[in-house]
Amino acid sequence: MGRILVLGAGVVGMTSAYGLAKKGHKVCVIDAAPGPAEAGASFGNGAQLSYFYTDAMASPSLAANIPKYILGLDPAFRVRMTISPAFMAWGLRFLANATQKAFERNTSDILKLALQSRLGIAELSEKIKFDYSQTGKITLFSSRESLMKAQRLSELKNRYGAGQVVLTRDQALEKEPALAHYGHSFEGAIWSPHDEAGDSSLFCKNLRVLLERDYGVRFLFNTKVRRIQTRANELVAIAAESEEIQCTRAVISLGAWTAPIARTAGISLPIWPVQGYSLTTPALASAPVASITDTARKMVFCRVGDRLRIAGLADIGPIDGKFREDRFRTLLTTARGIFPKAGDYDGEVHPWTGLRPVTPDSKPIVGCTKVKGLYLNCGHGSLGWTLSIATASKLAELVGASAAQS
Ligand SMILES: Cc1cc2nc3c(=O)[nH]c(=O)nc-3n(C[C@H](O)[C@H](O)[C@H](O)COP(=O)(O)OP(=O)(O)OC[C@H]3O[C@@H](n4cnc5c(N)ncnc54)[C@H](O)[C@@H]3O)c2cc1C
Repeated sequence: MGRILVLGAGVVGMTSAYGLAKKGHKVCVIDAAPGPAEAGASFGNGAQLSYFYTDAMASPSLAANIPKYILGLDPAFRVRMTISPAFMAWGLRFLANATQKAFERNTSDILKLALQSRLGIAELSEKIKFDYSQTGKITLFSSRESLMKAQRLSELKNRYGAGQVVLTRDQALEKEPALAHYGHSFEGAIWSPHDEAGDSSLFCKNLRVLLERDYGVRFLFNTKVRRIQTRANELVAIAAESEEIQCTRAVISLGAWTAPIARTAGISLPIWPVQGYSLTTPALASAPVASITDTARKMVFCRVGDRLRIAGLADIGPIDGKFREDRFRTLLTTARGIFPKAGDYDGEVHPWTGLRPVTPDSKPIVGCTKVKGLYLNCGHGSLGWTLSIATASKLAELVGASAAQS
């Protein structure tokens, strides 16, 4: 068997390469950027290994708030309508997943995947460094109603070992003294002891070293894929900007850019980019130690080494991925309001934007395609790093099984 090309060196492509190489495959990873996790969502994301906060994006409360999002009345969430047929089709499927039943099913399916990843991440943390921390997560709720709803979901998650507990305001303050500097009021919180954090960009960079050194994985950077060449429904080559790379097996892990490239092979995928923003600033003494999720403002605060990463905002619509100053300002102003003393907001602030590759049910797509030799590992939405190790091993099993058949 020849080598397998992995298209994309974001966290999903890098872990795909790891999963495949561990099974003895010869692997080559291709990316348009000069290095791993440089140009996509894996660079500046929320830094969460959120094994137990796996809530699907489509939910009854999101659906109820869509008019508000369209009218621009929620700073954290924006929906801009477009008449694109692909967007309409994705949107209808997304809405079909916004029932309570579908939301709970999707959330627990994602949770099961996340739990498979958890062991793999812990194992990798002994081999590579990535500012890994196991400080747990506190999720804050501003109203009694939202806390009660979350408590119900928490009971479901606890069946899988989440160990989550509801905290009163005072108990939350005791667990995380930095909440004394919280700029709003909150009704209560949920403590999730097993959630973790780290730097997914550093994870990818150091995983590259491991892959090259221990598994002989090769990398072709600065190589932009244009299309996938097939003959009689079999993969024959990957056409890049300046060369054609012959191959019989490849995996598409191009994050938010997956759908247009898959389309060149006649494969249509329900993945829509949902844009988010983050900022990274030195963590000051009053920064929280545990990760904090502010559900009312849909924002996450997390220490990554000696820095503080703050991420949030979800813009759905005709998105080009460009950095929008006004949206970044919204993130910065909201962050300042939540934890005024946590970061050096007037000094060193590194802004970033990225695209979450979101499927209607928030579940990643891992599988074979109608093109022989072409596989998918994509559509990881808001939890790509958290789910990456699980989907990589699923992919490696699948590739192994189809190799055994042919
Ligand atoms: C604001 C925000 C916060 C988030 N927070 C978290 C979090 O806390 N925890 C978590 O688990 N997940 C989080 N996510 C989601 C997570 O970042 C993504 O799900 C994950 O990074 C997707 O990884 P990927 O490898 O599929 O895509 P990407 O990381 O986007 O990688 C795609 C790669 O494809 C390459 N590429 C694109 N087009 C081409 C081409 N034509 N040819 C060659 N290469 C190409 C790009 O250069 C890039 O390297 C967040 C996302 C955002 C936006």
